[in-house]
Amino acid sequence: MRRACVAALLVAACLTGARDPYQARREAMVRDQIMARGIRNPDVLRVMREIPRHEFVPPALREQAYEDHPLPIGYGQTISQPYIVALMTAKLDVNKSHRVLEIGTGSGYQAAILAQLVKHVYTIEIVPQLAEQAKKRLAKYPNVTVRHGDGYEGWPEQAPFDRIIVTAAPPEIPQALIDQLKPGGKLLAPVGPSPWSQELVLIEKRPNGKLRRKSILPVVFVPMVRGKKE
Ligand code: SAH
Repeated sequence: MRRACVAALLVAACLTGARDPYQARREAMVRDQIMARGIRNPDVLRVMREIPRHEFVPPALREQAYEDHPLPIGYGQTISQPYIVALMTAKLDVNKSHRVLEIGTGSGYQAAILAQLVKHVYTIEIVPQLAEQAKKRLAKYPNVTVRHGDGYEGWPEQAPFDRIIVTAAPPEIPQALIDQLKPGGKLLAPVGPSPWSQELVLIEKRPNGKLRRKSILPVVFVPMVRGKKE
């Protein structure tokens, strides 16, 4: 009887392992990188445990997908460090009724994480090849829409947004994005003139339209580049 139970457990473990051999690494990532640095939001921890980050990195880097650093995704761009994705998701303070704009789709990982917690994610990527890849990768996330374009202009057709998250660093927060934020909304962006002097900034637009700005911590993001005017 006991032997049968052990065998059944082993089969169950193997089956789960076969479904997602990366589950244990995700658990360790959440425990050692995210909870260890003070993030407690249960929804954020849950989605970081669920979303298969290894599917968002180039195949040759899959084994490094759950390590404590950003990774290259081609075209000089990066997927952010897991802790930064968790921190930004927590600071954005989202709920299931929110329509969210993301600037800088990159791999699509941040959009996939947010998609579990909000109503809809609209995400814009300036590198056409990355936008195309992300569109394919995110096809199984029905509440994400990817567009190729210049984030400096925002997404006027879908505005206003409850939340805006910028994942490339502009020298200052683009006015178009502030204009496309709902009163009562929040915008999170790494801001700074160079990769060596950026800070993560949270803007709250009060119901009366006044802005409150708070610095969260120093960060290093790729620059938000300007699109060519046609
Ligand atoms: N959120 C991404 C990481 C983004 S890296 C992820 O989860 O993987 C920043 C991305 O912003 C890059 O892909 C870069 O091409 C893009 N980017 C830079 N300037 C931009 C702009 N003006 N508009 C839209 N995307 C931009």
